[in-house]
Amino acid sequence: MNHALAHAASASLIRREVAGLPRYDPGADPDEVAALSGSGRVIKLSNNENPFGASPRVAEAVRLALAEGVSRYPDPTGRRLAQAIGTALDVPAERVVLGNGSENILELLCQAVLDAGDLVVTQAPGFSLHETFPRVMGARVEKVPVTAEFGFDAQAWSTALAGGPKLVFLANPCNPTGVVLSAGQLEHVLAATPESALLVLDEAYGEFARSRPGYPDGLEALRGLDRPWIVLRTFSKAYGLAGVRVGYGIASDPALVQALDRVRTPYNVNHPAQQAAIAALGDHAHLAETVRRTALEIDRVGDRLRASGLRVVPSSANFLFIDTGRPADRVARELHRAGIIVKAWREPGYETYIRASLSTPGDNDVFVRCLTGICAKENR
Ligand SMILES: *Cc1c(COP(=O)(O)O)cnc(C)c1O
Repeated sequence: MNHALAHAASASLIRREVAGLPRYDPGADPDEVAALSGSGRVIKLSNNENPFGASPRVAEAVRLALAEGVSRYPDPTGRRLAQAIGTALDVPAERVVLGNGSENILELLCQAVLDAGDLVVTQAPGFSLHETFPRVMGARVEKVPVTAEFGFDAQAWSTALAGGPKLVFLANPCNPTGVVLSAGQLEHVLAATPESALLVLDEAYGEFARSRPGYPDGLEALRGLDRPWIVLRTFSKAYGLAGVRVGYGIASDPALVQALDRVRTPYNVNHPAQQAAIAALGDHAHLAETVRRTALEIDRVGDRLRASGLRVVPSSANFLFIDTGRPADRVARELHRAGIIVKAWREPGYETYIRASLSTPGDNDVFVRCLTGICAKENR
């Protein structure tokens, strides 16, 4: 078989928008880093996962779901989970949409809404999929920069939104900075967004931020508005279910959910995942404990890094955005040798930054010691 010919033929089949996309960067592979480090132990701080694990009720729910057998398709509408979410948030279940992770819903929104050439406005630095999924559809993406202090640039948002976007992706808190928008800043975006546009408020880290003063609950802010919006949340982060892939959206109206239903693969959330999410949602004490421990660690580790002279952005999420003052790629490689995985940031202007999710206190101490050691050594 001549693979070179097949390669040339398949390359010519790929849509231009797709060929030009960057690959998603999941961070370094833990097995490779384990081999590199020699110790075999890896501290994975690259994906904003929950180091404390999911509620113990989850393992039991998954065990029961598997015991029922896996030969039947799951409930295509995830009725029980949608109802549990609706009840918890006081929203009718018909306005709840489920996804194979909330990333799946980002993708569905783009497929349902965007024509080639449409404008999407989002923020920089930001979450790569807020740019990738629109580009798959041939949309143009304008990224609004933060201020020099990682704050909200009201003027820049007004200018970008005046361009007439079809879709606005706003993450609150922001990934990778962990910075939150205030109620007033959210209000500013709302006022400047054309009423015809769909506002997507991505609250992947909302559970963490809600424990901090000054964080506006997006659902409460948008609830009464007579315009299209959707709030996205996920079980991957604070609930610790990243491995089973469940996210959800609360939409302004059932018609938006029905549009997403038409584009999504019909069984996008599998049965064990639905059961896991129902169990996780019911364990309020576990969530509260995760959020409490995370906030303590974020503040403690942030303070220790700042005390050693590093610039660390104030975070209301479960990760820190850290200026290492040197090429972040190099710092990440040095950390790999110690068995630590972080994300070296690649967006223009932030190439000296790493994003590090927090782990347990012991692992965080190892991280602080290694990072400050690397930065001190190179300073000499
Ligand atoms: C992690 C993350 C998500 C979604 O993750 P899923 O695992 O797909 O639910 C969405 N948005 C942002 C900004 C994230 O960081």
